[in-house]
Amino acid sequence: MSSWSIRNRLFLVIAGMALLASVSIGAAYLATESERVAVRGDASNVAGLYDLTVGLSNAVRDQEAAVDDYLLSGNSAADIRYGKALENELTLAEQVRLQALAYPGVETALATVTQAAAAWRTSFAQPAITAVQRGSAADIARIAATSATDQQSTLTGVADLIAQIGVAQASVAARDEAVSQTRAAAGVLGILLMLVAAAASLVLARRWVTRPLGRLLMTAKEVETGANVAFRTDRHDEIGGLGDALERMRSALQQDVDRSSILNRFTEVTTFAPDDAAVAAASLEAFSLLVQPDAAVTHVLNRSKDRAIPEATIGSPNAQVLPLNALSSCPGIVRGTIYVTPDAAELLSVHCSVYPVDHGTLACVPLAHGETVGAVHLYWEQPDSFGLELRSTVARVAEHAALAIANRRLLAALQGMASTDARTGLANTRAFDQLLEEALAGRREDETVAVLMLDLDHFKDFNDRYGHPSGDEALRTFADILRSCLRDGDIAARYGGEEFAVALIGIDQGMATTVAERIRSRTESTLISLAPGITDRISVSIGIASAPDQAHDRITLLRLADEALYRAKQAGRNRVESAGSEPDETSAA
Ligand code: GH3
Ligand code: MG
Ligand code: MG
Repeated sequence: MSSWSIRNRLFLVIAGMALLASVSIGAAYLATESERVAVRGDASNVAGLYDLTVGLSNAVRDQEAAVDDYLLSGNSAADIRYGKALENELTLAEQVRLQALAYPGVETALATVTQAAAAWRTSFAQPAITAVQRGSAADIARIAATSATDQQSTLTGVADLIAQIGVAQASVAARDEAVSQTRAAAGVLGILLMLVAAAASLVLARRWVTRPLGRLLMTAKEVETGANVAFRTDRHDEIGGLGDALERMRSALQQDVDRSSILNRFTEVTTFAPDDAAVAAASLEAFSLLVQPDAAVTHVLNRSKDRAIPEATIGSPNAQVLPLNALSSCPGIVRGTIYVTPDAAELLSVHCSVYPVDHGTLACVPLAHGETVGAVHLYWEQPDSFGLELRSTVARVAEHAALAIANRRLLAALQGMASTDARTGLANTRAFDQLLEEALAGRREDETVAVLMLDLDHFKDFNDRYGHPSGDEALRTFADILRSCLRDGDIAARYGGEEFAVALIGIDQGMATTVAERIRSRTESTLISLAPGITDRISVSIGIASAPDQAHDRITLLRLADEALYRAKQAGRNRVESAGSEPDETSAA
């Protein structure tokens, strides 16, 4: 029943009741129709009886008047009138008798009348007529004296007959009334049934429409306040359809909210991600929440853009370091947007060389925002596992991840530019000071840090002799010599003009002297090519100071190293000098 539409059900109830009402009214009319026709016939019959009886009464009076007239006048016309009246009476009496068969009272009264009339004729009319015809005056006078009262019993009979007809009339009227009452009752019943139908419609409309609508409204209000409740209807009618549509809308909105929340959290995490691997891992977390892949890998291009590194994985994906051209053949990268292979087992499906599979679903998601920085491959064992409605959300995560990686690289490049000396590629003064501060601050108590100050000898002369560009070339060559003499973790900087500074981490004064000596001798022995066929050499003077032996702080160390350098210059250049034990730092400052 609940699968019927509300309209159909209400129609059924109202139409059913209306049909019942019509049937009951119709049945009552049909059942009473024959009685009504009969009553009508009987009524006209009884009315006819009355008319006949009135005629009969007149015929009786006419006979009496004709006989009286005949007695007084002896006129034969009166005799003829009597004959006619008599004949009339007999005819009417016969007609009354025939019509009165259904009314025993009337029949009996008629019999009384005909008997009384016959008796009157025998006792009075016939003797009177005979007396007149004989011309016997004495007989005429005797009979005339009695004539006034003799017909009285006939007329009394007629009055009784009329009364009986009245009784019959009353019975017909009563039957007529009964028919009318039956029909009126059927009418009332019909109206009552219609009222019941109307009331039932109201009750059912309340049960089928108002109440379930009220429940949906309550749920809607709860949803509006943020409660996580579902629109529930176990109905299959219009209200059920409305409930289902609302539930679909609500869950779609909820999904949007959930996706936005994932996206927001992802954006937040990438803002604080320390490196590409963290961004890649966060993007896979987001994908895992959004589309639940069975396996996934995020490849990110390295800074020199010749390799794609699998920075983050889920499950056990195909995750290898790829040469650049391998990544650029991925259909997602080629298209510049997400490429989904819904069923890799299908004959006409595109295969990705980065993530080769022979069944299941594969989504190739480029990490690109202007420039491509990598790609994500999401894999599901089952075919058709990627809902197309998630495309835009996945694309937004990928775009944001790409942007985060690109921004991080841009920032690193800018920071590099700000801390690097353009001519030599070494750190600049600011970067050196900062790095040395950090190295000294993070130094364990017994750990040594040596600082070298280096100044090229007679460089002004070198410039004057060969020109400024050659001087620049000499500076670059010296920077290369420095790099070749240092280990990873040591810091080399151009400290201004033709002055350089070096910090050797974990190196004591003695070892620092060895390193400085190596720099000095390598500088001295290196030939600098200045023009075709023209080479020359430079030399360097170096001053050394070290922590913790001579000082703990950067400024003092640099000053001591500088003073040692000054001594090296004074002592004839192309030398290494170390700072000895120094007076107290505060007095030195
Ligand atoms: P000393 O042995 O006493 O250090 O003598 P010096 O000539 O090296 O010292 P001085 O301070 O008199 O001269 C330094 C020279 O270094 C002057 C300047 O022309 C040169 N110089 C500084 N920066 C650059 C640079 O970037 N390129 C070139 N080509 N020369 C530079
Ligand atoms: Mg100098
Ligand atoms: Mg110099």
